Amino acid sequence: MNLIGHFVDGKRVSGSSARRGDVFDPATGRRTAQVELASATDVAVAVEAAERAARSWRDASLARRTAVLFAFRELVHARRDQLAEVITAEHGKVLADAAGEVQRGLEVIEYACGIPSALRGGYSENVSTEVDSYSLRQPLGVVAVISPFNFPVMVPLWFVPVAVAAGNAVVLKPSEKDPSAALLLAEWFAEAGLPDGVLNVVNGDKEAVDTLLEHPAVKAVSFVGSTPVARYVYQRATMAGKRVQALGGAKNHMVVLPDADLDLAADAAVNAGFGSAGERCMAISALVAVEPVADELVARIAQRIAGLRTGDGRRGCDMGPLVTAAHADRVRSYVEAGVAAGAVPVVDGRDVTPDGDPDGFWLGPTLFDHVTPDMSIYTDEIFGPVLSVLRVASYDEAVALVNASPYGNGTAIFTNDGGAARRYQHEVEVGMVGVNVPIPVPMAYYSFGGWKSSLFGDLHAHGPDGVAFFTRGKVVTSRWLDPRHGGVNLGFPTQT
Ligand code: NAD
Repeated sequence: MNLIGHFVDGKRVSGSSARRGDVFDPATGRRTAQVELASATDVAVAVEAAERAARSWRDASLARRTAVLFAFRELVHARRDQLAEVITAEHGKVLADAAGEVQRGLEVIEYACGIPSALRGGYSENVSTEVDSYSLRQPLGVVAVISPFNFPVMVPLWFVPVAVAAGNAVVLKPSEKDPSAALLLAEWFAEAGLPDGVLNVVNGDKEAVDTLLEHPAVKAVSFVGSTPVARYVYQRATMAGKRVQALGGAKNHMVVLPDADLDLAADAAVNAGFGSAGERCMAISALVAVEPVADELVARIAQRIAGLRTGDGRRGCDMGPLVTAAHADRVRSYVEAGVAAGAVPVVDGRDVTPDGDPDGFWLGPTLFDHVTPDMSIYTDEIFGPVLSVLRVASYDEAVALVNASPYGNGTAIFTNDGGAARRYQHEVEVGMVGVNVPIPVPMAYYSFGGWKSSLFGDLHAHGPDGVAFFTRGKVVTSRWLDPRHGGVNLGFPTQT
């Protein structure tokens, strides 16, 4: 059995822990590897390697750091198909979707190649007579990145390139469900010239996370995962004095107004509801149909679902399996709860015949109509291919519903009325808004992040917020002395 270890101080290593996790191919249901689950000691070894590396990496010139980033970009770009295959083998998403994930990660690497512009400070001459002031941004030291299973490449790449380009050293703790891609990224970073210890990967579970949250050398934590764990990470790591951004779960609404193009809206709902089997934090899981469009919209969505092929991601299917058997069971139990609560299952994913191994973790796309806000299929993040349609009478009712949600990651409005769209973007309490765009993931040079229980902390991921998160500001006030500056004056400095 293939045993997946860690990457510390520039090489693959095995840790001291005897604990292991199972890694599956979700399309066959077979266990393909085991992953070491790091002990506190294993994590401490990685943090110490990062601490040593951070001391010199912070002094590496911007030219040297960007040279590494450019070389890394070329390697990932050249090997993107290999990376996509690794994602599909452990996560299950179809190859085309995995390639899309790699592409979004590449965009953050490209953004980080421009770190010299992002780190530029300000300079003011003569703030007082012959006194100049200027601002600097400096790295934090060692930072931890903890990522979820659903984007094993893109989420680590939201943070690692920016953190490293800004002069930090990183300890990355990927999801134990699909750990292989992170190790490849670390190896390729080393191949691109990143010094040993600047990027370390420890595989593990709660024990590894808790060690990172408490370790005094870790100055900041970037976390992405479910809301309860995000809240816990935020609270524990801020108590330990760290800077934290903890991105949590979501329940994303797509509002369809009566004047929308219903074919475009139906396409968007299917793509955003069932892409990656709904295992996306930006997936649309609640479709809010403003009457009288619901009957027509539901019919067009059902017609499209009938044409989807669920199966092995390597066979050109549209939708792959769920990540684990336990997760597939959990999603199936939500479908059962929806039926029991009285929602109408227009398409029932439990009936699917997959194009894949019968032991794979399958569930087909499910479409519920007449869902009400009290049902668990609406209130809970299911994180599977389940799309709920809620019918409302007006735009105001739609906005009130979206704003009553505890989550605020992404949302979309479909309409041809510019005024209504503009009003929605102004009124909705959500961090990322799409206008006729169902999955409004910002480009790398903007920042990604939700509101309310979808993000704990102040700064979002990548873009300007990412640079601010991984650096701290310093302002220098300088005067080059000559004898006429002498004299004693105990007054508070003022401008003269
Ligand atoms: P998860 O919360 O189970 O795990 C995330 C990470 O935390 C993993 O590395 C895991 O090992 C670790 N972890 C799990 N339980 C822990 C515990 N009790 N204490 C400490 N660490 C723990 O999430 P997941 O199932 O891997 O990912 C899916 C979730 O991530 C969904 O809720 C999804 O919405 C969310 N997500 C959010 C975003 C976003 O940008 N807001 C992006 C991707 C995924």
